Amino acid sequence: MILKQCKYVITQSTRGTLTNVDIRVEGNKIAEIGRELKGGEALPCNDKIIIPGFLNSHVHADTCFVNSGITESEFISEYPYSLIELERNARKDLSLLSAEVLLEESLLRGCTSLILFTKYHRDIQELASKARVRVISGPLIYSINELRRASSQGIENAYCVYFSKLLCESTLVELKEFFQDIKANRVYIHVSETRKTVFEAKKKFKRFPIELLDELGLLTEKTVLTHSGWVTSWEIEAIRRNKSSVVYCPSVEMKLATGGFPPIKDLTSKGVCVGLGTDSLLTGLSLDVIEEARVAVLHQRESYKGLTMFPKDALNLITSSAEKLTGLKIGKIKEGYLADLLLIKFSPKFHEALGHGLIPNIVYRLEHNDIDSIMVGGELIELSEYRNAIRDSIDAKLNKLSDLLLNEE
Ligand SMILES: [Zn+2]
Repeated sequence: MILKQCKYVITQSTRGTLTNVDIRVEGNKIAEIGRELKGGEALPCNDKIIIPGFLNSHVHADTCFVNSGITESEFISEYPYSLIELERNARKDLSLLSAEVLLEESLLRGCTSLILFTKYHRDIQELASKARVRVISGPLIYSINELRRASSQGIENAYCVYFSKLLCESTLVELKEFFQDIKANRVYIHVSETRKTVFEAKKKFKRFPIELLDELGLLTEKTVLTHSGWVTSWEIEAIRRNKSSVVYCPSVEMKLATGGFPPIKDLTSKGVCVGLGTDSLLTGLSLDVIEEARVAVLHQRESYKGLTMFPKDALNLITSSAEKLTGLKIGKIKEGYLADLLLIKFSPKFHEALGHGLIPNIVYRLEHNDIDSIMVGGELIELSEYRNAIRDSIDAKLNKLSDLLLNEE
């Protein structure tokens, strides 16, 4: 297939934004970008902006649509342990139904890839291919025994480790052994989420949590630190030195009033790869990763009290960072990369003569209805045609979830 005469192509590669070019897609990949390309079915795109599909780097499936049974303030004062408790007890039927809803919701919001953690990660791939969203999933790990169990099952994709929970319950020797057992492609570590979790580590081990990970040799290229709002300058240096990455969930920092913030400019200016996640609906605001990018701009500026993040930086967190965070060739429009694209209908509000230009207009003003179609692995999904059906399907599942929760013991 050839996307013909695309009005704009925001490549997120060194080629920047191109105008009036064709994109040839062969199989699941981008084969060629240029003018007057030939071969295959042609799709006119002279009224479209093409942009890489977004990555949501951090979602907890089991607690997106759940009845917490406690008030919001009780939940927040006990976080992250309150979240862990709910996830440990997650029921399979509720979790999988929740996952179906969040996959459909993500697609409507231009999210072509998700890093998703759930107790029932083995059942997710089938749901993901049904929803046509790319998913990297893995189990949530709270203890050494769970890791041993997961390790013996040969999990290759990813783990989501709750470091604060492990710190409470383990010795340094056990922790070291714990991480040596991990053979997955990526290890996402919840660490330094709140002041309380940092102080717990300092009290028990006389070290800050990320400092401790470094000393144990546990910061590696496949380590992705998650949340990490309480981080020292020497820990940032350790993250850089070990080529580890960071995932940032700005809504969560504010909603849970963590009082800290991951200093994104200090990380990215040192070359650290940073992604953006929405987390769960109990801890975050929505599953809308472009909305989260807008929140990121505001949160970083307010936290630093300065102009430390711009829309183009926020867009990088959900596109060009994707390759390092997932190990997949995604997040850029480039020859050889997977054809995961958004076809956005050009509307006058995006005009580069308005505001601060095309990319700021997209980051600040994109709405779901502007996404005309989505391509995932070369397969085109015309959202303009299916949007209402997907919304109906989400509503039906949410009604079913509510019924199940009402009848829960
Ligand atoms: Zn999380």
